[in-house]
Amino acid sequence: MKILVIEDEKKIANLIQKGLKEQGYSVDLSHEGKEGLDRACASPYDAILLDIMLPGLDGLSLLRMLRDRKIATPVMILTARGDVSERVAGLDCGADDYLAKPFAMDELVARLRALLRRVTGENISFYKVGDLSMNLVSREVLRGQRRIELTAREFRLLEHLMRSPGHTLTRTQIIERVWEYHFDPGTNLVDVYIQRLRRKVDDSEAMKLIHTIRGVGYAIRTE
Ligand code: CA
Repeated sequence: MKILVIEDEKKIANLIQKGLKEQGYSVDLSHEGKEGLDRACASPYDAILLDIMLPGLDGLSLLRMLRDRKIATPVMILTARGDVSERVAGLDCGADDYLAKPFAMDELVARLRALLRRVTGENISFYKVGDLSMNLVSREVLRGQRRIELTAREFRLLEHLMRSPGHTLTRTQIIERVWEYHFDPGTNLVDVYIQRLRRKVDDSEAMKLIHTIRGVGYAIRTE
């Protein structure tokens, strides 16, 4: 699980990073609003912890821009204790939960876990990109009416691509998420699997969905 923490107070940010890492999360930090937004748009995260008062671009504007760009990553905002208007504004802008500062690390972890469970458990059981659909519960994959049979590994790879259409996943990210290797196996494993997916998903279709981003990685998208 990969979490982006956008918080300008370095002490708090480092504390959150340390606490989440201990729980097995992988954490990226951003100390500035604009840079945080760029990061959130550039690579897929499982959740974002977002401070409101940030230099560059404040948290609420950042959140609004994120949702405008159709990025649905679950967001927990970090608000000042007792500030109800901030909390309400955050939820209105598309936040999924809030946590009042100061907070105990245990509480943050518990709330984050609940948020991730809620999101993966209920909302996201179905992905769709163009006429390609994937049901995570029945594990059925369809291109239009055509049923696609995938191996477990191919399914997982396609799932990671479909989680964030339009985002480029690097080979390293794919290796980490689909194979859970934290080293470069030094093979063209990813390319081989992408080729297999393409054969099943795209070969017989006019519109290609799986795209190679030269020198970077792969993305799934409709145009
Ligand atoms: Ca702040």
